[in-house]
Amino acid sequence: MHRDDYLQYDQEDSLASYRQYFTLPKGIYFCGHSLGAAPKSVEVSLLQLLQEQWGKEAVCAWNRSAWIDMPNRLGNKIGKLIGAKNDEVVVADSTSINLFKLLAAALALQPGRNIILTENDNFPADLYIAEAVAKLHPEVKLIKCHRTQIAKHLEQRTAVLMLSHVHYRSSEVYDMQFMTELAHQHGALMLWDLAHSAGIFPLELSKHNVDLAVGCTYKYLNGGPGSPAFLYVRKELQQHIQSPLTGWMGHLHPFAFSDDYLPANGINRFLCGTPPILSMSAAETSIDLLLTIEMKKIRIKSQQLSEQLIELMSRYCGSMQRVSPLDSHLRGGHVAYLHPQAFAINQALLAHGFITDYRQPDLIRIGLSPLYLRYVDIWDFVHTLKKILDEKIYCHDQFNRPVKVT
Ligand SMILES: *Cc1c(COP(=O)(O)O)cnc(C)c1O
Repeated sequence: MHRDDYLQYDQEDSLASYRQYFTLPKGIYFCGHSLGAAPKSVEVSLLQLLQEQWGKEAVCAWNRSAWIDMPNRLGNKIGKLIGAKNDEVVVADSTSINLFKLLAAALALQPGRNIILTENDNFPADLYIAEAVAKLHPEVKLIKCHRTQIAKHLEQRTAVLMLSHVHYRSSEVYDMQFMTELAHQHGALMLWDLAHSAGIFPLELSKHNVDLAVGCTYKYLNGGPGSPAFLYVRKELQQHIQSPLTGWMGHLHPFAFSDDYLPANGINRFLCGTPPILSMSAAETSIDLLLTIEMKKIRIKSQQLSEQLIELMSRYCGSMQRVSPLDSHLRGGHVAYLHPQAFAINQALLAHGFITDYRQPDLIRIGLSPLYLRYVDIWDFVHTLKKILDEKIYCHDQFNRPVKVT
């Protein structure tokens, strides 16, 4: 294989044209799993919102430009990407807050059941939130077990099984249908965190009877830094389940301003406060771009990019130890490698124009966003990394100085 072969792959890539729709940072961007790149259309739509809506309509825009419907409109668009029905998804708050709302709601819905079951190596924020929810009631317990031991720990007191579909470090993928059925066999509700799945993985939430889900819009959905998260509640549960954060936007009649709380019908009861229109609008523009592509196509290119990366890495960068599964069906959108000098290697890569991410103490994640990465980027990356490793460039002082955000 030669570099020319990779250029040829790019020639044949049916998603290649999407790269032109993004503003990309200098260098090659392998962090789409952390913060998706900025679509050019967002610049246009935000400016228009500022000038035409906020500028000329101001408060009237809540009605005239339908700002008030944005959480639902955007939720339904995301629903299309994750296989949910209309009105099963709404956009609000952050993933962490949505997780809090859904976990507390799931416990209240399952009287006689008092266990939240999860994986011990789950995303730390998810574990912190679950711990906090458990602490609210003396009888509620959080059980964390190894991902291979979930089936053993499900029991008649399990109220909810909470898992991240794609693991944030290893990129391992759960079989969503299998795990959801397993939870249901034990009478537990199934809650998925889709932070590393939405926008990269074709999902079928409704078809698989998933009860609850959360996810963020700033990773593969390219919604922008801190863009609001989404939450999903299965249609049949919606009239029975209650949000613990009863803000006015979740009220049946928010503008009646009555003293007493009545939950809205359906998914809107999980809204809390006023929606962040600017960031929601940016996310909507990005998601509109994604909606023009079949999710299956994105997944296929994602698998091919990661297969190419793994093959070249094993050939040229043998000292990097792969932690992600070899079988692409068991892998999400990024590939992770271990090396004792991962921090310095990551810094050296940055200096050579490759933006990857480092996780303490010894992990490098390479995010492969199919909409703006080229096959030749994989080739160039591996050959630069080979040079950094072979020539021990990472040992230079300049790559071993601490930084604030890693
Ligand atoms: C990125 C990520 C989140 C993000 O949560 P925030 O509330 O947006 O900070 C949550 N869960 C997982 C698994 C993630 O990867």
